[in-house]
Amino acid sequence: MTDHVLIIADIEGSSGCWSRAAALYRTTAWAEACVEMSRDINAVVRTLAEAGVRHIRVKDFHRTAYNLLPELIDPQAEIIHGYRRRPVAGLGEPGPPAALLMLGLHAASDTPGFLAHTLTSRIRRLTVNGEVWPELPFFAGLLGPYGHRPVFFSGCPVACAQAETFVPGIGCWALDKSAGPGSVDLVRWRRDLAAAAVRALDDNEIPPLVIPGPFRSEVAWRAGRRAAARLARRWRLPVEEDRLFVEASDLPDLFRQLIRICYLTPLAEKVLPLSLALFNLRGRLGLRWVRRQEHTST
Ligand SMILES: [Zn+2]
Repeated sequence: MTDHVLIIADIEGSSGCWSRAAALYRTTAWAEACVEMSRDINAVVRTLAEAGVRHIRVKDFHRTAYNLLPELIDPQAEIIHGYRRRPVAGLGEPGPPAALLMLGLHAASDTPGFLAHTLTSRIRRLTVNGEVWPELPFFAGLLGPYGHRPVFFSGCPVACAQAETFVPGIGCWALDKSAGPGSVDLVRWRRDLAAAAVRALDDNEIPPLVIPGPFRSEVAWRAGRRAAARLARRWRLPVEEDRLFVEASDLPDLFRQLIRICYLTPLAEKVLPLSLALFNLRGRLGLRWVRRQEHTST
């Protein structure tokens, strides 16, 4: 059994997120989704620990990266909030080679999955070397060189199908949200999710995902051609209609450039440690707000 597990946790595919509002910041639906997402992660962590996994790290990776409530999660797991600049952009320290579990994820922009988007819903469609990319190849591809093996994925059925095209044989556990929250026995789903995650650890066939460059990415901007032109001027990128073109020699470079387009301004980039500190502070305040909501609703 693998002794090290790294979980990347998102909210869209988790069991408490059933609307766009639940994926936003400081909405009542989001506060509830944070609680259920934490319970999903707890179920997986406990089952992994019972199976003998000793080192479990959980990277919160939705919006502010402060969604998980550690008090609801077995303390055997280390919960990592917030974004970091390096060594892996956003994720920070990759840690020792681990089995990588991606939980609560979603399908790629411009595909029919539940709350489908890649990086941000402001991107209408994102292709890399001609292929529509979800977030899996970024996460698994950035962590591949550090020895992490992407063995398990959970999200809507469309997201799971996309995961299988990038990592043939990856263990998947889908949550179909098409018929609404009343349509699924969520207690049972969560238990089965945890069991499926543990089963996937036995799969020693899946190697780390290493995606060699160079890359050419097309980023179609939902707000249209004027917004795309503004971004193109800001970052000195070629543009055609609503599409920006990004060239990168390797995956870390591509990811950094895309993050910059989606989330930064040149000034914010110049003072990135400060920008990140402020962003992470906003995340902490949001999570404090979630706890207060919980308090007042019970
Ligand atoms: Zn998310």
